[in-house]
Amino acid sequence: MGEVIQDNYRAVREKINETCKKVGRKPEEVTLIAVSKTKPLSDIEKLIDIDVIEFGENKPQELREKFDEVSTPVRFHQIGHLQTNKVKYIINKAVLIHSVDSIKLASVIEKEAEKRDIHVNVLIEVNYAGEDTKFGVSKEEVVPLIKEIAEKYRHIHIRGLMTIAPFVDDPEENRPIFKGMHELLLDIKSQNIDNVDMSILSMGMTNDYIVAVEEGATMVRVGTAIFGERQYKGE
Ligand SMILES: *Cc1c(COP(=O)(O)O)cnc(C)c1O
Repeated sequence: MGEVIQDNYRAVREKINETCKKVGRKPEEVTLIAVSKTKPLSDIEKLIDIDVIEFGENKPQELREKFDEVSTPVRFHQIGHLQTNKVKYIINKAVLIHSVDSIKLASVIEKEAEKRDIHVNVLIEVNYAGEDTKFGVSKEEVVPLIKEIAEKYRHIHIRGLMTIAPFVDDPEENRPIFKGMHELLLDIKSQNIDNVDMSILSMGMTNDYIVAVEEGATMVRVGTAIFGERQYKGE
């Protein structure tokens, strides 16, 4: 099973590289995050064996546990929704929090970061398609939120944007969303807001990462295509 995971990872990485070449981007511009949520530590170790260092988790407790248990230090990304009372679990463990979507959450991150005298890198999660079921701020709320966080919170560094596109049968359906996210990123970058650098665009999952890379993603978060289908309790 371990070799399958390694082969899957290499295949996804290869597809990203080919896509980059096709659209005239450099493969180094795109970071592949292996989304290991619900998967055992042994699966992560298989990838560590082939020098993978970027992993994504969506539950803070799970990130914390795996962080404490891995054989070699790796970089864990908090990609899922973060409740304010869970910030303390991951604040000094996640290299990047992808899911900041409110002033309330940012204020708690600031408080916990200040306490520990650390700086925290975050992305703003955008609910670009405006789906009811999703976390994230609307397109219109992004700039005001960024300005407020950048002005108020000295321990938080906004590094870019993240989105979870809708689940669709044909990934082409998400192209306008990825394109729109890229435009939004460039627009905010051009505003040169103090303490904000728009260098990261986190978008694209198993179903649609190729299209996301074509449209300018600098981080893709891929789980199923690497580790296989997830089993949730009770299934
Ligand atoms: C689970 C998850 C992913 C990966 O999803 P796959 O479809 O398995 O690749 C990416 N991003 C977030 C935020 C997730 O929760």
